[in-house]
Amino acid sequence: MTDISNFMKPFTQQEPIPAAAIERAVEIMQSGRLHRYNLAEGDSNEASQLEREYAEWQGVDYCVACTSGGYAIQLALRACGVMPGDKILANAYTLAPVPGAIHNVGGVAVLVDIDSDYHIDMADLEAKAVASGARFLLLSHMRGHIADMDRLADICERLDICMIEDCAHTMGASWRNQRSGNFGKAAAFSTQTYKHMNSGEGGFLTTNDPVVAARAVVSSGSYMLYGRHGAIPAEEVFAEVKLLSPNYSGRMDHLRAALLRAQLPAIEDSISRWNVLYDTLAARLRAMKGVVIPSRRQEEFYVGSSIQFQANGLKRDQIPLLMEACAARGVELKWFGDDEPKAFTSRYDSWKYIDDIPHLPGTLAVLEKTLDMRVPLTFDVQDCHLIADIIEQEVRQLLP
Ligand SMILES: *Cc1c(COP(=O)(O)O)cnc(C)c1O
Repeated sequence: MTDISNFMKPFTQQEPIPAAAIERAVEIMQSGRLHRYNLAEGDSNEASQLEREYAEWQGVDYCVACTSGGYAIQLALRACGVMPGDKILANAYTLAPVPGAIHNVGGVAVLVDIDSDYHIDMADLEAKAVASGARFLLLSHMRGHIADMDRLADICERLDICMIEDCAHTMGASWRNQRSGNFGKAAAFSTQTYKHMNSGEGGFLTTNDPVVAARAVVSSGSYMLYGRHGAIPAEEVFAEVKLLSPNYSGRMDHLRAALLRAQLPAIEDSISRWNVLYDTLAARLRAMKGVVIPSRRQEEFYVGSSIQFQANGLKRDQIPLLMEACAARGVELKWFGDDEPKAFTSRYDSWKYIDDIPHLPGTLAVLEKTLDMRVPLTFDVQDCHLIADIIEQEVRQLLP
């Protein structure tokens, strides 16, 4: 065996916040005016400018900056008209804030199976939509794997289903040159530290629907100061909804907005760098014995901020051994098939607060051997090769 050194960099290390953002943040802190509606004469309104800039970049009419991605999902569900007791279809391979958002708005999750490439299973979606009568679909583009959006749009139209997209992993990704988030009625994005822009906590709701936008702005906690937002519909739309939209306080502040405004112009560059790292890892994993990398469709433009592979050559009980062996050499893998939820990974059957958790054979089979790895931008191509060398050696040790 060739001598391969251990990997030493942390998988949780982000790049620093740009110097210009830090400078601006200090100015804002010195002014004391952090709240988005607290503006002195002539102040630059960071939150509303961010909304305008993000809406333009995303290619939508309206954008609301809020406290988190999970909050943006809840707000989107409510603004799209979900009422307590409503059934909401959702792909079962996702992260816990998704079923949590459904629970938080009083919805009833109808979990849908996935296919072997991590996309929502179209046949199961149709069957469950018809059987449940659900009128909403919360589609999570989990780990950046984008389903066939043409087929999905067709199903939603035929069955009169309102689609809300969770784009926590697809900010900047697209399907047939249309940005993820621009297919459904509304979309939610996260700017939490581990996503594609970093404000610690934060999120966006985007939509092209003026009524959904006005409801979301008022409900995000705008009191009657909604006029100070950056990407909003006309006053007459607000007049219709403002007294009917409860205040679910969840605004973004100027400080976080300033951090994000400085990062947005660099996002395309970040995406290119992510994909160089991702493509390096994917090519290596694809060539490995005992390992399968899901195929990506030509129509998809992804952002490779994390990578998933299936250790299909191993038995289920060898997966923890592989993780341990890799961890001992500095390579941090997570397992979505574990019986116990660990850190950010959990399997749908651990969300015990959901009534009638279905049996989803596709999801269980895929997750059973799915390993997940973050790809932070603080890694370089050489790091990716070292990581791949370590995984390859450790998999080989376990193969029969
Ligand atoms: C991170 C994440 C969210 C929630 O975002 P927060 O900003 O952490 O609330 C929702 N869905 C998915 C798939 C995520 O990864």
